[in-house]
Amino acid sequence: MPKIIVAVDGYSSCGKSTTAKGVAAYLGYAYIDTGAMYRAVTLYFYTHHVALTNPKEVSRALENIKIDFKRNQETGRNETYLNGLNVEDEIRKLYIANWVSEVSAVSEVRKAMVAQQQRMARNRGVVMDGRDIGTVVFPDAELKVFMTAEPEIRAQRRQIELLQKGEMLDLDDILANIRKRDLIDTTRADSPLKQAENAVLVDTSFMTLDEQIDLVTRLADEKISESIRKNNTAL
Ligand code: C5P
Repeated sequence: MPKIIVAVDGYSSCGKSTTAKGVAAYLGYAYIDTGAMYRAVTLYFYTHHVALTNPKEVSRALENIKIDFKRNQETGRNETYLNGLNVEDEIRKLYIANWVSEVSAVSEVRKAMVAQQQRMARNRGVVMDGRDIGTVVFPDAELKVFMTAEPEIRAQRRQIELLQKGEMLDLDDILANIRKRDLIDTTRADSPLKQAENAVLVDTSFMTLDEQIDLVTRLADEKISESIRKNNTAL
């Protein structure tokens, strides 16, 4: 069976990661959360007081950062490790969310993360979610999906998610963070968030997570059948 790359890009809190995880589980592919990588870099920069305006400090810090994903045997969840330390919960906090877009706008940071992401998918068979997967990391991905939803709906979803983790936050603060990140992510000079020309647009404002997973799974199945047909005619 030929293996494909599924690129899931879009705004924050549209259900990208849950959809990508569901699709990866269905296909038996690896799931890579690139947002977690940028968040882990942000945590490192935060704890080591790295000045974004100092290129030397930034490259030295990047040389000292190692990011891995490991499966938690109890929960079955993929968790993010920064230099061997489990940082999965820490990187989801609001102080990281408030700084991550500024850190991700630094070209050196992007270069290092993109190279690692490309290495992770060298054998294909991955579902990767982020902001630039279909445009920069894998412009040749067989399936590209671009997810969007109304900011107010995204803020409500994020609030529920944080509540489930025991963090109670004001809806207005979450909405402000979402709007700020949207603005920085879409207007940055290097790899701004935008829909790739051949990406399928999915507005999740009024979709359930199951509907999102079903839709993207169906699209992935179609692309895999297409690859099989192409391989057969090439023989
Ligand atoms: O997906 P998540 O919301 O965790 O991503 C956090 C932030 O990381 C985004 O707001 C964006 O600034 C940055 N990011 C990025 N490129 C990616 C993934 C995330 O710039 N591929």
